Amino acid sequence: MESKPRERIQFGEGKISGYFSIFLALMGIFGVLCAYFPSYLTTPDFRKAYDPQLVKWVLLGCLVLSFLFALWSFLVSNRRKYGFIAVILIAIAIFMGTHLPEARNITDKSFTVGLDWLVIDLLISAAIFVPIELFLPKRTKQTKFHPEWRTDLIYFIVSHLLIQITGVLVQLPAIHLFKNIGLEGLQTMVQSIPFVLQLFFALFIADLFQYSGHYLFHKVPYLWRFHAVHHSTKHMDWLAGSRTHFFDLVVVRAVTFLPIYVCGFSTAVFSTYIVIVALQAVLAHANTRINFGWLKYVFVTPQYHHWHHADDPAAYNKNFAIHLPLIDMIFGTYYDRGDEWPEKTGLDDAHFPKGFARQLIYPFQKDPLAKDDELTDISER
Ligand SMILES: [Zn+2]
Ligand SMILES: [Zn+2]
Repeated sequence: MESKPRERIQFGEGKISGYFSIFLALMGIFGVLCAYFPSYLTTPDFRKAYDPQLVKWVLLGCLVLSFLFALWSFLVSNRRKYGFIAVILIAIAIFMGTHLPEARNITDKSFTVGLDWLVIDLLISAAIFVPIELFLPKRTKQTKFHPEWRTDLIYFIVSHLLIQITGVLVQLPAIHLFKNIGLEGLQTMVQSIPFVLQLFFALFIADLFQYSGHYLFHKVPYLWRFHAVHHSTKHMDWLAGSRTHFFDLVVVRAVTFLPIYVCGFSTAVFSTYIVIVALQAVLAHANTRINFGWLKYVFVTPQYHHWHHADDPAAYNKNFAIHLPLIDMIFGTYYDRGDEWPEKTGLDDAHFPKGFARQLIYPFQKDPLAKDDELTDISER
């Protein structure tokens, strides 16, 4: 059952600062937990990049900020529970942090949970996108705590915790297919291209492959059942992009990774590409009116991708690209209505399952080729 729409939170109620303080304190606790069980809760690839001093300062910064927000919430709010909860959480984090076990050898486990990646990405994404959505929202009445936010948060958490297994699965086809066919010559040539051109080429070729995978997930009815999960959100915001069925996520990313692997871009280009992917995928779903002027014809913007999610038959099967609108222009799927934004997003299907678990099993539940009303309805895209 749909819960009734909630009011957008207002400044000055003490709620925003209360939520910030609880969020930051939780990040502090999770950070300390990573230090307790590094072999199990941190990702080998990230672990190499940590500067322990920096991590310490960041966690301490989180707790100090959390305390300041709690104090502010306390001063301006009638309901002081947020401040109380935050202070208790801060105390737990400090207690845990000051009782850390002696440094032990970290062993590489075959399976680790990416709690470190969750904390890092959640902190960075929240720092960038929460202020953008607070101060420059597109849908001004949409609150962050809309009826679907918990579902989207679960997607965000699960996809980050499973980063290690996702990474292995995504790289598997590329490594399996191309490992031993002698790509050194091609890769040396690609790496000799100047940085900016090489980066553009990386974005272009990755988006071209992403386009093909994404297109098939729209056009093949059985695949659409998986991708429909991503399109089911009616409240577009920075968390909404995380709502992707695990199968959809792995397959499209694996397809996108093929040309990246084959071309063997330089480390600088590959790292920049990863940062752009992470930021643009989140920004594209964000509830913000920032539209980047003429750059909207060059890079995928929120308005561009919101049209991809539009619950409007005129916009079905348009704007598949995630980096460069050029790709949609080439294939005739570019859609632009000037300054207009879609009236609504999501599926025109009141029966589409809600919640992470139901959406996870949904694609497997019925004969995907059965021409029932529900399927006809969603496979029109
Ligand atoms: Zn799509
Ligand atoms: Zn999307």
